[in-house]
Amino acid sequence: MNGDFNYRMPVQIICAAGVSKAISSHIKGKRVFILSDPFLFANGVAQTIGDNLEGRQVQYFSEIEPNPTCESVDLAAEQARRMGADCVIGLGGGSSLDVAKIVSCLTTNGGSIYDYYSGGTQTIENRQTQLVCIPTTAGTGSEVTNVGVFTNKKTKVKMPMVNQAFWPDLAVIDPELTYTVPPAVTASTGMDAFCHAIEAYWNRESNPISDALSLSAVKMILQNIKKAYDDPHDLGAREAMIISSLIAGISFSQTRTTGIHALSFPLTAEFGASHGTACSITLPAFIRISQEQAAEKMAAMAGYLGFGTVEELAQAVEDLMVSMNMPVRLNQLGIQEKDLQHITEVGLTPAIVHLTPAEMNTQTVYTLLKSIL
Ligand code: NAD
Repeated sequence: MNGDFNYRMPVQIICAAGVSKAISSHIKGKRVFILSDPFLFANGVAQTIGDNLEGRQVQYFSEIEPNPTCESVDLAAEQARRMGADCVIGLGGGSSLDVAKIVSCLTTNGGSIYDYYSGGTQTIENRQTQLVCIPTTAGTGSEVTNVGVFTNKKTKVKMPMVNQAFWPDLAVIDPELTYTVPPAVTASTGMDAFCHAIEAYWNRESNPISDALSLSAVKMILQNIKKAYDDPHDLGAREAMIISSLIAGISFSQTRTTGIHALSFPLTAEFGASHGTACSITLPAFIRISQEQAAEKMAAMAGYLGFGTVEELAQAVEDLMVSMNMPVRLNQLGIQEKDLQHITEVGLTPAIVHLTPAEMNTQTVYTLLKSIL
């Protein structure tokens, strides 16, 4: 834990069942661009939100794909600019929310995402367009972070982008929106939130506030994820999951993530795993190695959660994943021993990997991956 810290959380948060239908008074703009994915447009959720915006001009973009590409970002930005959008609403999982962040910036900062992202030479200095994020999965916490994650279609490299202009103005938390999330997505997104909380907790940049948030989030997730998985209409479990995802998001927004997320990028971009699956598949192994340099802290977390040892916590997490039909071995994603060296090299690229408490180098990462092949 770091006793010297600088905590900043500029996002206004409103939370209530059904609140997404009543956000008109929070919208400052006259021309609202609503970004979502094909499912949320086809089932009418996007239009219900737009219909309740009282007298604004509303335009929809519903082509956001999981793990959004820079090309999708540019397409959406072009349409938002053409309508003169002064408010961008991201509605969906992390993919839609992340695209909304950069599109809200590109409406007034010209050019392509490639001008600013990974190798781009320009900087986004500010955002003038209002940015509202409405999560429909309980997982990424993107609604309260200043991170966006995009994939370069040509190189297949998936990388996070961090910018002060990415903090949303408003996060709208409506647990009812998560009723339709299928069990497999409930499991993988919920375990993504678990990873955020625990990665913030053992993070080299952790602080007393992020620690408190993380402990609260992991407990709520362990108590509710299986209930939400088994019964999609359990309002109590859905509410607890979307709030714990929010809390985990606030926590890691202060610390960033660690090796779990760094290794997830190649597992998603090159082996097709969903984001939550790509993160959680290494989670039990990371919990085990966390004892190397964060032993006391991890023992405290295990005790707080009712486990005798950190190993018991790791095993319980693995058992929970199995009970939700999640893969716990890399070979279940089609990964073979010959792939491990490459995954190791790509996984060691993002700077966040070195926020892991244990030493992360070619040998340690390879050994960790081999242990869960
Ligand atoms: P997603 O947004 O890619 O959505 C996954 C699937 O769930 C899609 O098919 C979508 O249609 C469906 N879905 C979404 N809401 C639904 C609902 N209410 N009912 C039924 N189906 C629904 O998934 P995600 O896991 O939420 O987001 C993953 C993305 O977020 C990744 O690109 C990841 O890298 C990124 N991410 C960003 C941050 C951040 O801080 N910005 C943090 C973590 C992850």
